[in-house]
Amino acid sequence: PADALRDQLRRIDGKGYKAYKDIAGGYDFKKFALYIDHVQGDPYAAPSRLRVRVRRGDSGFAKDTTKNKSRTIALGDFLTRRFSQQSRRLSKGSRGSGKGGAITIDRPGQQILERSAFLINDDFVEARFFMGLPALGRKIAGRDAEAMFFSELPEIVSTSLFFSALDPKAVYRHIETAEDADAARAMLLEKGLIAFIADNSLLPRRSGIDDRPLDDPGAVRFASDDTYRVTLDLPNAGKIAGMGIFRGISLIVGGGYHGKSTLLHALERGIYNHVPDDGRQFAVTVKNAVKIRACDGRSIAQTDISSFISNLPLQKDTARFSTQNASGSTSQAANIIEAVEAGAEAILLDEDTSATNFMIRDRRMQQLVAKQGEPITPFIDKVRQLYTEKGVSTVLVMGGSGDYFSVADHVIRMTEYLPGDATDAAGQIAQSDSAGRQAEGGTQFGRIAARIPQAQSISVYRRNKKMKIAGRGVREILLGETNVDLSDLEQIVDPSQTRALAHAVYHATGFMDGRRSLREVAEKVIADIEKNGLDVLTPFVTGDLAAIRAIDIAGAINRIRTLKVSQ
Ligand code: ADP
Ligand code: MG
Repeated sequence: PADALRDQLRRIDGKGYKAYKDIAGGYDFKKFALYIDHVQGDPYAAPSRLRVRVRRGDSGFAKDTTKNKSRTIALGDFLTRRFSQQSRRLSKGSRGSGKGGAITIDRPGQQILERSAFLINDDFVEARFFMGLPALGRKIAGRDAEAMFFSELPEIVSTSLFFSALDPKAVYRHIETAEDADAARAMLLEKGLIAFIADNSLLPRRSGIDDRPLDDPGAVRFASDDTYRVTLDLPNAGKIAGMGIFRGISLIVGGGYHGKSTLLHALERGIYNHVPDDGRQFAVTVKNAVKIRACDGRSIAQTDISSFISNLPLQKDTARFSTQNASGSTSQAANIIEAVEAGAEAILLDEDTSATNFMIRDRRMQQLVAKQGEPITPFIDKVRQLYTEKGVSTVLVMGGSGDYFSVADHVIRMTEYLPGDATDAAGQIAQSDSAGRQAEGGTQFGRIAARIPQAQSISVYRRNKKMKIAGRGVREILLGETNVDLSDLEQIVDPSQTRALAHAVYHATGFMDGRRSLREVAEKVIADIEKNGLDVLTPFVTGDLAAIRAIDIAGAINRIRTLKVSQ
């Protein structure tokens, strides 16, 4: 019972911090059960890990709030936000030394992601959170701890784990929006689309580091051009019209500052569901759409980039290309090949972040530098084969070169933030001006090798001791003594995803048996998560993991500098 915790806290009050270890365990608070899973070693260490659990019947969440996975994930997301708000409002936040006094839970951004912060099933609703156990210097502040456990926490729990304490309209709006977005995403392929952006969406963001919608009254709401308008029938919102981006090759053109990159960003983020007032809640993209960019300096482990790069100086083999320091163009080639290898359905590129010599090679350059003297086959000569042979669509932002007119199925022209159709106009220009540029892509795209990763090359041990596995911000993971730079995996949006990626990479090594391909290994990890939840990634339950894709696990493994593979 809870009184046992109170007694413990009084007994250890004023003692050395280590005595806090005695309070680990489970306590019955009548309205909820509290589990103290891990007690921090000192006031400055990572905060303690705890869970609270309420019986499903007591929590008051009707069956329909969790009738499918979309709703269950969205409900967990809603409750995480609520718990986070309430803990900021109701806990003192800071007491005594170190991180003492804080009650925290994972804090979602604009996306609705599956998280380990909440577990909701037919039996119970459980929040996984963190507490900084309070101390004065290094002595236990038992009275402060008592206030946290017996006054602050019960208040947070009773206002965030019970349906009766929530705004029912907001709950249902949240889960219905997510359900609609998933339904929309599921309709894309059968309609021949890779993305859909509803009319009235608001795509621009507040800033490059603030993902909330632009709050300028002059912001232009999205409206489809008639040519591209499609209507989807969603389970809650009903019929909703917007622009379809069709399979094949789509070019986004338009003057500088007219909203090309903003549209592409919305497509990148359309792999995720968004909160109801985000502006992109009905902007969805197929799940395995991958943003590709150049990233010079990355390492590459035996990737077959010969479709794009061949005849390098010094006879470097590009069918098994390895380097610790890729150039802009080779990094971009590897990023594309590896994305396709891992199961990409569509790739998204922006001229702003692409290597020019990878994207274009115009007729003047072809005349001056003959094909034999140029190792790069530019993307323009492969993009068609990528679609017809490998089934991978491309969306490309290109305001600086008209060469792509000849290979595009659709040309979308952005004018003052609104799309229009310029396919015919671009086609006519391409025809009347066709002579000159030579296609250099050959007759076939070329091989996508299924590489087999070697577990021994990813080590988190030093002298038989398992080292730290962690995420660092959004763009870096730490595997033992190896840092892995993920800065070109631009679709990772949340530090909890990065943490999950770190653990997923380690988890993946367990599936590397010398036969499974990188893609199979990554998909095994996802299958395991689907079956057992995100908890399967860590040896202990921790509330700070968020969902990731197989394709991003493969992406993270590909960026490990010690990675060894066989083909
Ligand atoms: P481009 O890639 O065509 O040069 P961007 O997409 O980068 O243009 O957009 C230029 C600027 O306009 C950005 O600051 C962006 O936030 C803003 N912006 C984009 N779309 C809209 C819109 N619908 N309403 C208002 N501002 C927008
Ligand atoms: Mg741009």
